[in-house]
Amino acid sequence: MTLIKSISGIRGTIGGAQGKNLTPIDVVKFTTAYARLIKDKNPGKRITIVVGRDARISGSMVDSLVEGTLLGTGVDVINVGMCTTPGTEMAVITHKADGGIIITASHNPRQWNALKLLNERGEFLDDAEGKQVLSMAEESEWDYPTIDNIGKVILREDFNATHIAQVLALELVDVEAVRKRKFKVVVDAVNSIGGVVIPALLRELGCEVIAINCDPTGEFAHNPEPLPENLTDISEVVRTEGADLGIVVDPDVDRLAFVMENGEMFVEEYTLVAVADYVLRHTKGNTVSNLSSSRALSDVTARYEGCSYAAAAVGEVNVVKKMKETGAVIGGEGNGGVIYPELHYGRDALVGVALFLTYFAGLDMTMSELRKTFPAYYASKNKIELTPEIDVDKILATIKSRYSGERVNDIDGVKIDFEENWVHLRKSNTEPIIRIYTEAKTMAEAEALAKRFISEIEQICKE
Ligand code: MG
Repeated sequence: MTLIKSISGIRGTIGGAQGKNLTPIDVVKFTTAYARLIKDKNPGKRITIVVGRDARISGSMVDSLVEGTLLGTGVDVINVGMCTTPGTEMAVITHKADGGIIITASHNPRQWNALKLLNERGEFLDDAEGKQVLSMAEESEWDYPTIDNIGKVILREDFNATHIAQVLALELVDVEAVRKRKFKVVVDAVNSIGGVVIPALLRELGCEVIAINCDPTGEFAHNPEPLPENLTDISEVVRTEGADLGIVVDPDVDRLAFVMENGEMFVEEYTLVAVADYVLRHTKGNTVSNLSSSRALSDVTARYEGCSYAAAAVGEVNVVKKMKETGAVIGGEGNGGVIYPELHYGRDALVGVALFLTYFAGLDMTMSELRKTFPAYYASKNKIELTPEIDVDKILATIKSRYSGERVNDIDGVKIDFEENWVHLRKSNTEPIIRIYTEAKTMAEAEALAKRFISEIEQICKE
C-alpha cells in the first residue's frame, strides 16, 4: 500500500485508505491541482489538456476520474484513449494543447497506477512546477467553475497511427531500406498498449511479426520491467523461430530492449548506444545520458570527431534539460530510453525501433555480431540499507572528499569515474538507503568494486 508523491507526478497502489494509496479522492485532488497550475500559467485562456493511458486494468477507472475532474475545473479535454507515453506527448505537441496527463505506472506491476504530468511542449513538468502541483494538492480552498464554465471533451481519437506516421516520416528512418530486409521480429509487450503499437510499426516496416503478450488486456504476463530475468519467454521464441531479433517494451512504451538472434539480451544499456551510433554517423553532435548509464555511450561518441558526451542527473526531465543545454542530437537513459529531439524531447520506443532497424538494415551482421562492435561493460546494481538515524548526506560527502583526486561528479549523489570503471552512489528520497551502481569491463570487477564501496560505507557508519 503506497502513495509516492514526486515532482514528476503521483504514483500509488489502487485501493485502500485515501492519502496512503492512489484512491479516487487522490486522483481528483492531484488532477485539480494540475489543472490549476496550467490555468495559472495561462491567465484568461481556454485550456485544453490531452489525456492518454496505458492498458493497465485500473486505466479506464482512473481515466474517467481524470477526465471528469478536468471538465469540472473548466478545462477542455482531448482524450486519446489507450496510448503510449511518447504518443500522448506527441498528441500534446500536434494538437498544440496546453498540457497532458499520462495515466501509467510505467514498469510497475498491475496493482499500481500513476499520473505523469506534461507541459505544453509534451515534456514532463520541471522541478518548480511539480512542487507547485504538490503544494496545491494540499489546499482545499479553491472554487470550481459554475455550470456555464465547465469544460467539454473536444475530441476522442486514437493517436497511435498518427504517432507511427510521424516516426516513419523522420529523415533518418529509411522505410524502404528496412522493408527490403524483411526482418523476422518477435515482440513482447507485456499485454499493454505496446502490443498494438509496436507490431503495427513493424508491419509498416515490412517485418514479419511474431507477437507474444501483445493483447492489451492489462493482465501483465510477467513482471513488466524489461530485465533479463523477466524475459525468458521471448528469448526462447527468438531462438526457436530463427528470428533476426526480439523487441521488448514496458507497459507505456518509453523503454526499449532488444533480444539477439541467439536468444541472449542485447542488454538494455546498449539500446541507446546503438541508436546513438547510427544517429552520429549521419548527424554530428553531442550526446547525453544519465550518470548511472553505461560508459559505452561516451566511448562511442568519442569515435566521432567533434562530438562530445555529457552526463545528466538521473530522471528524464534532467536528461532533457542537459540535452537542450548541450544541443545534443541524441540522448536518453541507459534503461532503454531513447530521446531523439528531431521528433520530440521524450523517451520514445517507437523512435528507437525505427532508427535501430534502419541502422541494422544497413549492416551486414547479426545482432550478436553488432553487439561485439561496442565496448563491453558490465553493470552491477546494489543497495545498502541503513538505519534512519544515519546521515546519508554526510556519508556521501565523506566519500567525495576521500576521492577528490579522481574525476568526481556530484550533481546527483557522488559518481567517481576511475580509469577502468566507475561507481555511482545515490541516496533515495523515500527510504534510508544508498544505491550503489558500478560498471567495469568484467562482471567480477563490477561486483568487486561494489563490495569495496559497500564495506567502505559501512566503515564510515561505524566511525
Ligand atoms: Mg515506462
